[in-house]
Amino acid sequence: MKVLVINCGSSSLKYQLIDSETEEALATGLCERIGIDGRLVYQPAGCDKIKTDLAMPTHNEAIQFVLDALTNADNGVIKSLDEVGAIGHRIVHGGEKFTKSVVITDEVIAAIEECNDLAPLHNPANLIGVRTCQKLMPGKPNVAVFDTAFHQTMPAKAFTYGLPYEYYEKYAVRRYGFHGTSHDFVSHRAAEIVGKPYEDLKIIVAHLGNGASISAIKDGKCQDTSMGLTPLEGLVMGTRSGDIDPSIMEFIAKKENLDIAGIMNVLNKQSGVQGISQLSSDFRDLEEGANAGNDKAQLAMEVFAYRVAKYIGSYVAALNGVDVIAFTAGIGENAPTIRKMVLGYLGYLGISVNEEENGKRGDELLISTADSKVKVYVIPTNEELAICRATVALV
Ligand code: ADP
Repeated sequence: MKVLVINCGSSSLKYQLIDSETEEALATGLCERIGIDGRLVYQPAGCDKIKTDLAMPTHNEAIQFVLDALTNADNGVIKSLDEVGAIGHRIVHGGEKFTKSVVITDEVIAAIEECNDLAPLHNPANLIGVRTCQKLMPGKPNVAVFDTAFHQTMPAKAFTYGLPYEYYEKYAVRRYGFHGTSHDFVSHRAAEIVGKPYEDLKIIVAHLGNGASISAIKDGKCQDTSMGLTPLEGLVMGTRSGDIDPSIMEFIAKKENLDIAGIMNVLNKQSGVQGISQLSSDFRDLEEGANAGNDKAQLAMEVFAYRVAKYIGSYVAALNGVDVIAFTAGIGENAPTIRKMVLGYLGYLGISVNEEENGKRGDELLISTADSKVKVYVIPTNEELAICRATVALV
């Protein structure tokens, strides 16, 4: 079956058409600047990217252009939309309602809408993608795959905040976690590579991208993860602060004369390694800066790696041990320096790093030595493929 995977944001939309039998992407791309002017990026497998400026006042035009590109006589990859068997949608927040992927019905849409409060920037945009696909491809099954679902197995002791309990009862304020599709995909792949049943392994996944989170898996279930009610909690990220003393918010609000929106903007967009380095949120720039003697760039990398190591250490305590650690996402897959810095803190676990393997990029790698007590891997994530698989399983 061919599955169209859609990740719809408020002004952009990423898509892939995947053949579920070969698990190859037939075409990938994105629509940018929806509602502003509009640009379609379309890349059939093995070909160059084609960028076209096209007016996209709404998501309707954007998705229509994607469908036109996929079926175009010159460089399309399918003859007609009849070949598309189903559409898989990334939905950011499923609250406590969704513990796994589901086929989308009117009731499901209403239940996702009830979670809008928890992700006001993402869920409504995700649903626009769903509704537009329903309209443009009537009769085709649509499946919702949630970022939060994988973490719904966390026990109450892990998801409950030290806040008045009524906030949980009244407003569902608790830890949810994100990047669930990636943590799910990478942890299952880790068990496959190790060749042991998933249920028998203690696995820690470090998804280190621009947004970054860590998860701890035991007995085949996610036991804890570093993001919380929103993706702001946990690690120091590209531009997000991660964990801070909450009192800093009041302190800085007074000093800088900021309201809550202003403070949230600082914590989400001007903090993290970007804020510390005052150079960039991108680790390629930070490494280059650090190598050229930029102390703040060096400090940003150290703060980042130290926080990752602290989280891994705390999850080893939570799981009472660890068998496998897996690095994934942009930094996890491509930044050997950061992996080395993180693993440098974990010698007490009996981890020993194979420097030569760690120096490589991109592919699946075992980066611990044969005698290391914990197996450490680099496993490229593939959230689109995970969404494709979940979609096929349901339809
Ligand atoms: P997201 O999906 O959250 O936007 P990604 O997983 O794509 O993030 O990761 C993007 C980040 O990965 C970049 O901001 C950069 O910091 C890092 N990155 C990508 N390639 C490299 C590289 N070759 N070396 C170091 N860091 C890299």
